[in-house]
Amino acid sequence: MSARIIDGKAIAADLRAAVKGEASELAAIHGIVPGLAVVLLGDNAASKSYVNSKSRAVTEVGMRPFDHHLPAETSEADLLALVRKLNADPAVHGILVQMPLPPRIDAKRVIASIDPDKDVDGFHPLNIGRLMTGQPALVPCTPMGCVRLIKTVHESIAGYDALMIGRSHIVGSPLAQLLLKENATVTIAHTRTRDLPAHCCRADLLCVAIGRAEHIRGDWIKPGATVIDVGINRVPGADGKSKIVGDVAFAEAVNVAGAITPVPGGVGPMTIVCLLVNTLRAACLQAQLPPPEV
Ligand code: NAP
Repeated sequence: MSARIIDGKAIAADLRAAVKGEASELAAIHGIVPGLAVVLLGDNAASKSYVNSKSRAVTEVGMRPFDHHLPAETSEADLLALVRKLNADPAVHGILVQMPLPPRIDAKRVIASIDPDKDVDGFHPLNIGRLMTGQPALVPCTPMGCVRLIKTVHESIAGYDALMIGRSHIVGSPLAQLLLKENATVTIAHTRTRDLPAHCCRADLLCVAIGRAEHIRGDWIKPGATVIDVGINRVPGADGKSKIVGDVAFAEAVNVAGAITPVPGGVGPMTIVCLLVNTLRAACLQAQLPPPEV
């Protein structure tokens, strides 16, 4: 058996087109152009590249980017002052402060200073609380992308045994919460979990976000299960160059699973487009309009 490959690139492209359509309607009918402010501190090459692709994506769907590239030595007080200014700016509907921040800056304090209604990363404690209590919330982008991928395979996952491996605030915990909201029976595994393969063997839906290259083996997976691999790990390739692999041993898993996301080309492409979805949502929320249909 060979699993259905969940084509994140194609699904993300469709969603991007839908977001673009909604954004142009919002501009035409209500005169609102959703604006996303991205704040980057310092010159970390990976962060710079993420920020550039986010700004490009924002422009491509007809939204307005507001890029703030601050020197590495910017103080926490100055960063908080910029966030306050962006909170008050009606042209800015979403605010994202690129992580990681230097250790001398309290990232939690910075996140908590963002207006929750502009918190397009979904990391503000109020949005986390809203998600936990079943209230409408801006939810983190990667987990939102995972659920959208799952929904291309399953109309409903109600009653499914879902295993979330990883419990970070960015991916594992919010994704587990979203799966619960979809009425799956959710188990969360982590480094202290005993007999991880036994848990995997029971899962109809297996989501993995641990940052360990190909840690989940094919013979741990329940035949026919849907596998969502969030991991992005750089490893040496056969040709001496490095390559990207997921947290799941794809070549093994593809023979057992019913459906699986590849790495790259699975979850990755969904994350930025879900940021656009959140920016659109935030713009509608702030204008007291109903949420967009995407
Ligand atoms: P993280 O903050 O390092 O959290 C990793 C989680 O995995 C922790 O909860 C940890 O457990 C658990 N874990 C680690 N090794 C384990 C093992 N051997 N068995 C069971 N659990 C284990 O990582 P993250 O930010 O969630 O990211 C996870 C992966 O997703 C990384 O590869 C990252 O690059 C990738 N990622 C991809 C995207 C995307 O857009 N595709 C977005 C975000 C992250 P403890 O809590 O017990 O330590």
